[in-house]
Amino acid sequence: MFGVGNPEADLMFVGEAPGREEDVKGIPFVGRAGQLLTKVIESIGASRDSVYIANVIKCRPPKNRNPEPDEVSTCEPFLLAQIDAIQPKVIVALGAFAARTLLQSDAPISRLRGREYAYRGATLIPTFHPAYLLRNPESKREVWEDMKRVRSLLAELP
Ligand code: URA
Repeated sequence: MFGVGNPEADLMFVGEAPGREEDVKGIPFVGRAGQLLTKVIESIGASRDSVYIANVIKCRPPKNRNPEPDEVSTCEPFLLAQIDAIQPKVIVALGAFAARTLLQSDAPISRLRGREYAYRGATLIPTFHPAYLLRNPESKREVWEDMKRVRSLLAELP
């Protein structure tokens, strides 16, 4: 599964890997976590059609296990090519897996988020994954802080 959205988007979201529902539909983030992601996107006045949504891993790992390093290295060139083709101004890395892969770090997401990083011509904002938010709704406040920063970065664009 490749990605969906506006190929000229200023804002791109990067998740981990498709789940079962995504695998069936061929569209990223359509399950429960995806519905929450849609709300997060809409909370800053954007829509799924105006942004671009992709995953690090392009195929569903069997039984939703965590992706293996060789799967990351197989899929990563496609993600980097997507980023370079779309040239977003802001990239939101959803969860530890995407943030660590893009930033080549093994720090926990709680340390990576709350900061912004220069990444391939964009500003990268790590935040919690919507599936994590479903289990830990108290972290919505931090995601809202991160999204307000995304909104002001987009508002500052020429
Ligand atoms: N979780 C992800 O990281 N990506 C999806 O597409 C769906 C769920």
